[in-house]
Amino acid sequence: MVLRRHPSATCNRCDSALYYRYLEESTGWQISVTCDPEKGCGRDVVSKRAPRHHVDRPEEARAVAKRLAGEL
Ligand SMILES: [Zn+2]
Repeated sequence: MVLRRHPSATCNRCDSALYYRYLEESTGWQISVTCDPEKGCGRDVVSKRAPRHHVDRPEEARAVAKRLAGEL
């Protein structure tokens, strides 16, 4: 599990920084975006799965997660 702070995306409820993460599974990646668990409300903003045939490498999963956070 890798948790990274997005440079600009913020929670629309509490305005804290959003974090994104990606977890490798057997058939793909679990990608999620959460609000700052310490300073913010800590809610899970979005969670989705990316199948292996779409996202193969960790760098790709990171890019997908970061883009997802940036679109919120
Ligand atoms: Zn929040």
